[in-house]
Amino acid sequence: MNKVWRSFLGIVLLLSLGAGPLTGQDAPGYTPPYPELIAQYQQLAAAHPEAQLRQVGPTDAGRPLQLFVMGGAPVSGELPLESLAQDKTVLLINNGIHPGEPCGINASLPYARQWLERGLPQDFLVAIIPAYNVGGALNRGPYSRANQRGPAAHGFRGNARNLDLNRDFIKADARNTMSFYRLFHALDPHLFVDTHTSNGADYRYTMTLISTQADKLMPAQRELLYQKLRPALYQDMENRGWPMIPYVNVFGRTPQKGYAAFLETPRYSTGYTALHHCLGFVTETHMLKPFADRVASTEAFLHSLTQWAARHGDELERSRQKAREQTARAHYQNIAWQVDSNQADTLSFKGYAAARIPSKLGPYQRLQYQKDQPRTWPIPWYHRYQATDSARLPRYYVLPQAWREVVRRLKANGVAMQRLEKDTSIALTSIYLKPGSWAREPYEGHFPLRSIATEERPQKRLFLAGDYLIAPRQQAQRFIVHTMEPRATDSYLRWNFFDAIFQQKEHFSPYVFEETAAQLLKENPALAEDFKQWQSQNPQEAEQAYPSLKWIYRHSPYYEAEHRRYPVGKIY
Ligand SMILES: [Zn+2]
Repeated sequence: MNKVWRSFLGIVLLLSLGAGPLTGQDAPGYTPPYPELIAQYQQLAAAHPEAQLRQVGPTDAGRPLQLFVMGGAPVSGELPLESLAQDKTVLLINNGIHPGEPCGINASLPYARQWLERGLPQDFLVAIIPAYNVGGALNRGPYSRANQRGPAAHGFRGNARNLDLNRDFIKADARNTMSFYRLFHALDPHLFVDTHTSNGADYRYTMTLISTQADKLMPAQRELLYQKLRPALYQDMENRGWPMIPYVNVFGRTPQKGYAAFLETPRYSTGYTALHHCLGFVTETHMLKPFADRVASTEAFLHSLTQWAARHGDELERSRQKAREQTARAHYQNIAWQVDSNQADTLSFKGYAAARIPSKLGPYQRLQYQKDQPRTWPIPWYHRYQATDSARLPRYYVLPQAWREVVRRLKANGVAMQRLEKDTSIALTSIYLKPGSWAREPYEGHFPLRSIATEERPQKRLFLAGDYLIAPRQQAQRFIVHTMEPRATDSYLRWNFFDAIFQQKEHFSPYVFEETAAQLLKENPALAEDFKQWQSQNPQEAEQAYPSLKWIYRHSPYYEAEHRRYPVGKIY
């Protein structure tokens, strides 16, 4: 950075930070720095006995996660969150998971103030996370959102460990996520909102919305969300002057040919909340609209959802109960999906004409939206997903205590587990994994397993006193199945929690094993027959010592049963 540039930046920062909020259509906008944000919530809590700001666990930045709670009656400082939330309709709002997208950080303050002045219904509780990614919020600057129109300074997407927290809801590498588990299960919210700002295409809407993908839900909640709640929100937002469109899931091209609904798998916030029967929304304001409009539309959405929820609390609770009952009766659960390109709704989409024009930078064509040429197109919206894989639920999963990182995460998600009282030999089904392939580059601190093929084998295995029996027929069933079934999109296996099983621990020396192998074939004619067959099918390998001995070793009792065996057994 040169001197002139540095002083220019100094003026920008002075204007944006020192001089307080800027106003007007062309102002870059202002989002409060983290300490100022927390101070504003403290003031709000101090002024209203119905509200409170709580510290709800650590974050990676070494500062606590803050949670603002407000209800229809005074909030006692001593009550645990569980008691506050009991018998209430609960809405949880998460802001600043990506602190560079601060529309919700700004919008939640006037939203909370308005409800506190107006008064929330007695049986309603709202919990607001002012800024979830504390480390990212503290890492403030003007540059990390290159394509976004303000605010002038904002936080950064990566947290204190450079993790994207909106990919961390299953692997839980961040302390923020473990703290989220605690507050989420204490509140057991009916509704969840995660506030964001989009990237991608240009169009005329300020607010776009991801409603948790319906085909992942149990029928009772799917119906409520897609037949009642979602249409009501679209209508109400239109009435408020902020017409919405489903999240424009389009990158590098225009939306004119249509697009698919976004599938938020369990690693994402609303994918995670859906596992626990909480209906999730992601507000995605359009990055090129003025910051003031983005904030106003986010606030309008929060009001819209709150008003609907306040009128339909019983229905939300009934459908959740019913979904839990439907889950408890299921024998199979879907664990992977793909978009159904044969089914589409038609959206009347308010976009702009676009053209490919020569770039001024190099000999290529660039995409340019023509803002002076608004267009409205009927476009297909592919929002149905088909299950591509499912798992048969066992009576029990058996999880050896040695895998304590997994045990810790299951416990933090309210999974009920029984421990074996003594060492026990159990006849069960083991899952063997074919050789896998992993990501070649790190992704969110992991090298996730990309391809998984499994084979089930009956086996008798010794488990130790203290190992865990997990019956999936319990409230956390969907979370259990989506993390424990190895092929599930976001299973703990895929996230590298069990990678040690892919390495063979014992081997043989060819010169010693030559005699043992000969003896094995002599004593076992069936094995000898199979070996002959292998030789005739693999003539090149059969001419060499090592592949031949390896084949016999791998088909002998000397070959370890642990190699590529998924440690979690299933008792059907
Ligand atoms: Zn985001």
